[in-house]
Amino acid sequence: MTTKQDIIKSVPQKGFFGHPKGLLSLFFTEFWERFSYYGMRAILLYYMYYELNQGGLGLDRSTANSIMAVYGSLVYMSGIIGGWIADRLFGTTKTVFYGGVAIMIGHATLAIPGGMTTLFVSMAFIIIGTGLLKPNISSIVGDLYAENDVRRDSGFSIFYMGINAGAFIAPFIVGTVGLDYNFHAGFGLAAIGMFFGLVVFMVTKKKYLGLAGSFAPNPLAKDERVKVFSRIAIGIVAILVIGYILITNGIMTIDVFTMIVSILGIVIPTIYFIVLYRSAKTNADEKSRVLAYIPLFVAAMMFWAIQEQGAIILAQYADERTNLMVGSFEINPAWFQSLNPLFIIALAPIFAWLWVKLGERQPSTPKKFALGLFFASMSFLVMIIPAYMNGTDTLVSPYWLVLSFFLVVLGELLLSPVGLSATTKLAPAAFAAQTMSLWFLTSASAQAINAQVVKLYTPENEIAYFGVIGAVALIIGFLLYFFSPKIEEFMRGIK
Ligand code: GLU
Ligand code: ASP
Repeated sequence: MTTKQDIIKSVPQKGFFGHPKGLLSLFFTEFWERFSYYGMRAILLYYMYYELNQGGLGLDRSTANSIMAVYGSLVYMSGIIGGWIADRLFGTTKTVFYGGVAIMIGHATLAIPGGMTTLFVSMAFIIIGTGLLKPNISSIVGDLYAENDVRRDSGFSIFYMGINAGAFIAPFIVGTVGLDYNFHAGFGLAAIGMFFGLVVFMVTKKKYLGLAGSFAPNPLAKDERVKVFSRIAIGIVAILVIGYILITNGIMTIDVFTMIVSILGIVIPTIYFIVLYRSAKTNADEKSRVLAYIPLFVAAMMFWAIQEQGAIILAQYADERTNLMVGSFEINPAWFQSLNPLFIIALAPIFAWLWVKLGERQPSTPKKFALGLFFASMSFLVMIIPAYMNGTDTLVSPYWLVLSFFLVVLGELLLSPVGLSATTKLAPAAFAAQTMSLWFLTSASAQAINAQVVKLYTPENEIAYFGVIGAVALIIGFLLYFFSPKIEEFMRGIK
């Protein structure tokens, strides 16, 4: 039986800025994976709604917006499956590798001009691939360090920089090629990015990762396998057959599918909470923490709902409502997607410094979440001003978008880095393997609901759109702040 101790011993503990060399493998693999994901996302919306003669698919705006949200939701929902596969079948490293391959195939599919069919095939590969890769690569980061290693948090921060560095450069490269040259060439670059990530992972894995992630921690027993596999096979076949019948009969339209995902976005976390709470393996303190986690989950959902609209509503805004001419130079609308990761990279060290400086006096987790929501709310409320001042028929200065992305990042830095660690600490010990997926569910559910919400945006009703969503976030933020002492009590000693 391999213990946590054996794993740590097998991992070279130095070699990358005082961190285990394995962090370098994970950093660059995730850098390239995020490069491919966010590069693709930076042009996908435009690909869907640009007219056929501009190389797009000619979908209407609201359908394109809604597909972006459904897609974003499923990409993180599938993390549940990815977590299960790593835990029970392959271990994390193999699962990450299979995920990377699926992602690369997905982007390569979109590099082929093939209309809606290739779009949906590509999405299926990327949804499954990201589910296999994303939660598992993050959990290998944790495996590199001993439980009480002081470098652990800074290891995660470095990894987070890798994510955002990839997300930062992608819109310039994929966005420029995709919009100025050809969408499919852009998607092809995303595939090449993922290929680089896979190469880094394969070449360095053996030497740097040791035993980390090399086996399934909770493997399915031989006799269980047959039963579980046949059930899975029956389930997949049933879904395919029913799906086929519903689609060919015109019952399963994009709208119906979107509705199903939106409902899943509410049902799945609800089931999770019921199971966590009612399990015999959850003790009384842990039950109380599960209850404390519910308002945090809702707040995180509200936050991601706004943050993720940066790639949907604000991307449409960049394209249609923003004056992109600076003198005779035209800004590429996809480049606005680099603002979020740019601000993250620039400001994350300042926040890290601030928390060290404040020490014990720093706000509690619920308060940080509440402040995070406040800034997210502001990022939408400021977008009322240009429409209010000049109406919605004239183009507005690009600085409004810069300001909006800046504000949402202040919120993101309050909420996102602490969110995962709060999830890890608040989830019952028996469910530790699922905590990564549980955290990604905040984003999945947010986008499942977004799939309905983003349909409502039009430039004409912009003031109401930004106003209502901003106000809802503000109210939830205030409630959270107000009840935070109560929530802290329920956290039973967890900070
Ligand atoms: N933008 C971050 C990433 O891609 C956060 C994802 C999330 O939790 O929604 O890793
Ligand atoms: N800030 C996001 C995440 O941390 C990246 C993005 O939205 O571009 O990676």
